[in-house]
Amino acid sequence: MRLRALTAGAVTAVLALSMAACGSSDSGSANPSVDAGAQFEAGTTMAKLKTAGKIKIGTKFDQPLFGLKGLDGKPAGFDVEVAKLVAAKLGLSADKIEWVESQSKFREEYIEQGKVDLVVATYTINDKRKERVSFAGPYYQAGQDLMVKKDSTVDGPEALKAANAKVCSVTGSTPAEKIKEYVDPSNIVLFDVYSKCADALRTGQVQAVTTDNVILLGLIDASKGEFKLVGKPFTTEPYGIGIKKGDTKFCQFIDDTLKAADSNGDYAKAWKDTAGKVAPEAPKLPELSACS
Ligand code: GLU
Repeated sequence: MRLRALTAGAVTAVLALSMAACGSSDSGSANPSVDAGAQFEAGTTMAKLKTAGKIKIGTKFDQPLFGLKGLDGKPAGFDVEVAKLVAAKLGLSADKIEWVESQSKFREEYIEQGKVDLVVATYTINDKRKERVSFAGPYYQAGQDLMVKKDSTVDGPEALKAANAKVCSVTGSTPAEKIKEYVDPSNIVLFDVYSKCADALRTGQVQAVTTDNVILLGLIDASKGEFKLVGKPFTTEPYGIGIKKGDTKFCQFIDDTLKAADSNGDYAKAWKDTAGKVAPEAPKLPELSACS
């Protein structure tokens, strides 16, 4: 069962179960085993990173389940675990990672400028972005959905206009573009991060938040019953790992890492330790796209 196939009722049941069973805020995980003897062809990004002995990774800092900065200053979540798997294959342990908050609108820029070596940040692969960066993966497939207050009657994007609902999303994200098909521009509210959208929903400044279902699930989990998922995904969002445009060897290396993690159970474990606390069914690694 894929998350995007879950009904609203099923998601609610899953949420209730997970909150009762294991508490919902702890999304930490044991670090994957580091490939200390890793060898790479001279001149490749892999060789450079291994020699440098450190790596800068862009992720989100305010998205529970995928990338949420904890009190210890370190982010936790599924994206963070996937990134650690890549670092480990480079021979770099988690303490050699410098985490760089990469809000949606800055991801391409940070990769182009070398502010980060890669981005794992609920980052949808699409043609527009591929003009500026390359993607390894996809390593997960989400779908755009809506989050509303528990008592809301909004049951899908088509209902937003009639309800004259203000809808919140994030600048530079795919959902911010897509929602224009359903809502007048004057009713779209954009912030830099989704946690601010959740605050705006709480205070009644907006009546809905739109982004990927799994991001919303994390915010719903944190809302302690105040919000619900509408549960009707209306796009597909394949998550890729963003790297410098045209770095095919690095893309291939990351894809090989994902495949190995899938077969040795590390991918399933990364899910189980993080997003799996709210959505227990582990996803299947999607078919990887050709590196270009
Ligand atoms: N996956 C979508 C995107 O890459 C939405 C999530 C996000 O903004 O990170 O734009």
